[in-house]
Amino acid sequence: MNREEAARKLGVDLASLSPAPPASRFAETWARMQQEPPCSACGRPSRTSGVIHDPAHGPRWFDRCRECFLATPPTLRVPQARFLEELRATAADARLPLRTYTDEDGWEVSDVDDERFHLILTAGGKPMMHGWWGKRPTAEHQYLSWIGSWGSIDGARIVLTERADDGERVLASWPQGS
Ligand SMILES: [Zn+2]
Repeated sequence: MNREEAARKLGVDLASLSPAPPASRFAETWARMQQEPPCSACGRPSRTSGVIHDPAHGPRWFDRCRECFLATPPTLRVPQARFLEELRATAADARLPLRTYTDEDGWEVSDVDDERFHLILTAGGKPMMHGWWGKRPTAEHQYLSWIGSWGSIDGARIVLTERADDGERVLASWPQGS
């Protein structure tokens, strides 16, 4: 069921929920979940947060504790692997340690202190943004997402490098061959 249905099933009064940003990003939801606001249904510390879009009340935060969440399981709209990838990338952005578990790979622990992969955005030769990650898939995911977000800046150049004994080795750069 979706969040609107879950709120109805739990008997939550939508008017009592806190207003949420109109187009909340995953990072905002993640930040709210870190604060564990009281469950919208029962008041226990919540474990998951999301936004309800209600025509009468606008976007509102809907927070659920473990029990209330299990009583109203969501239908996953994205494959779990993609969700995990996004979660890891967001945690890496915020430099938060994260542990995830999948049946295929078992436990994976983020290594936020390892600065092996380096991403840099320059515009007209001037550095604008840096990122460092320990795992190559996270760095590559960020590389693509930076191209999507900032590739249209005038004179933008995005380079992904890997730390080597003698400095940094270029793994990819955008625009191609720059
Ligand atoms: Zn609850």
